[in-house]
Amino acid sequence: MSHFDCDLLVVGLGPVGDVVAGLARLQGLSVIAIDKSQAIYPLPRAAVFDGEIMRVFQMLGIEDELGPYTRIGDRYQFLTANREILLDFPLAQTGPYGWADSYAFHQPALESILRKRIGALGVDVRLGVAAAGLRQTDDGVEVTLEGADGAQTVRARYVTGCDGASSLIRSTLGVGLSDYDFDEPWLVIDAEIPSKHAPPVVAQQICDAARPITHLAMAGDRFRWEFMILPGEAPDEISRDDRIRELLAPWGAVEHMRIDRKAVYRFHGLVADRWRVGRVFLAGDAAHQTPPFAGQGMCAGIRDAVNLAWKIAAVVRGEAEDQILDSYQEEREPHARVVIETAIAMGRVVCVLDAKAAAARDAEMLARRATGAQDVSIAYPDLSGALFSNSAAAGSLFPQPVVNGRRFDILLGNSPALIGDDLPGDVPAPIIRLDLGDDRLAPYAEALRAWLREQGASSVMVRPDRHVFGVGEAEQLLADWEHALKTPVAA
Ligand SMILES: Cc1cc2nc3c(=O)[nH]c(=O)nc-3n(C[C@H](O)[C@H](O)[C@H](O)COP(=O)(O)OP(=O)(O)OC[C@H]3O[C@@H](n4cnc5c(N)ncnc54)[C@H](O)[C@@H]3O)c2cc1C
Repeated sequence: MSHFDCDLLVVGLGPVGDVVAGLARLQGLSVIAIDKSQAIYPLPRAAVFDGEIMRVFQMLGIEDELGPYTRIGDRYQFLTANREILLDFPLAQTGPYGWADSYAFHQPALESILRKRIGALGVDVRLGVAAAGLRQTDDGVEVTLEGADGAQTVRARYVTGCDGASSLIRSTLGVGLSDYDFDEPWLVIDAEIPSKHAPPVVAQQICDAARPITHLAMAGDRFRWEFMILPGEAPDEISRDDRIRELLAPWGAVEHMRIDRKAVYRFHGLVADRWRVGRVFLAGDAAHQTPPFAGQGMCAGIRDAVNLAWKIAAVVRGEAEDQILDSYQEEREPHARVVIETAIAMGRVVCVLDAKAAAARDAEMLARRATGAQDVSIAYPDLSGALFSNSAAAGSLFPQPVVNGRRFDILLGNSPALIGDDLPGDVPAPIIRLDLGDDRLAPYAEALRAWLREQGASSVMVRPDRHVFGVGEAEQLLADWEHALKTPVAA
């Protein structure tokens, strides 16, 4: 009998802990997930996520339930104080991953759906239980937990520290943070406004040197405002309700607004030096933090969760060597850094308080915009490293065709998949074989064959996290996959 209480202990049940716990459970692992708090984090934080993340929620089977708590975005704009457009990012209603480019949402609603879902999947959820310390052994980790019933020790094969920005797991491991030296104080407000009094449904950064402002319609009657706190202003004073009403007055209908939540944050960019120490991994805000201007902090953490869950499961099931887990930071850190650097670049456009500098910025950006050029890119890179084959498209996200409302990923499940024409009759478990000649693939075959033709290949191996392992000839892909899981080498 195993001397472990679980395969995976997840410390911290914010959105990232929820997703890693749920996906690990879908991979068949036994999972204990704890949070020191009984309640979901109450203050205003994430307001948008992207289509890649909706695809992850699809993996967890919560996409329909989420619907009423989301609103599909159509554009994201940066404006001057006079509301001239500096930057305009149109957002697709159906992107390449089978979902819209951007969803505005209510984070507590998402977290409550996630927690319910992971409980239903069989995760042993323990609330009001805090991790207080850990000790790594030869083959696992012993974690001391403290709750209302006192202290106890849980033995896990692996641990994920998803315990947020002030992660105890990170400090216990002695992992430091590298700092991008971007540090700006902002007041964040969520308000509810009945639809007949509602302000325009937009997602805007108002680059006003007198006070930079973020204004965003969330789902339903919810609206978000973020106000930069100016030098000399006291956070306590500016976050009083009467001051907030003054700040919101230009949007009208203040008398009909209900201020739902408010908080003061310092927006900054930080990255942990090590994301893996032995059998313990850091994920989400515990591993990296970004200013919110690109709407990507939670998204980046959920990408960590997706990257990690299937790899830990493959190792626990004996299909892969433990060293593939080194690919976690190798793949995720460069991506997270681009996200942070993009957000900081956006923040440097927004957070200009000097009127002359703001006028120069406006003149330069308006002139550049008149030529049709964009100033800031929001394209994020593909992944790279030892767990991809050396081929076209390796590391990119596999597209998800949608036909008559049916999404292709239903056929992928949680397994690696070999997809193509004239595949070998048998493939080793847990790989699934999706031959484009089969009837059930028929609705998607045209789109997938077109994608394969673009890559100049007859087949593709897709990892359980929906990233392309590689394209090429089927037998070679199977051999490369086996080799990569058993003997990964540094890229
Ligand atoms: C103003 C603002 C706007 C934002 N906007 C966006 C956005 O639009 N899009 C986006 O993607 N992201 C956004 N973010 C970022 C996003 O909110 C965070 O990145 C995300 O919530 C981090 O999730 P997490 O699960 O890593 O950590 P958290 O949500 O912080 O969860 C950590 C959990 O760990 C628990 N915990 C801590 N210590 C222990 C312990 N010792 N034992 C047990 N449990 C513990 C805590 O109780 C908590 O529940 C925004 C953030 C802010 C502040």
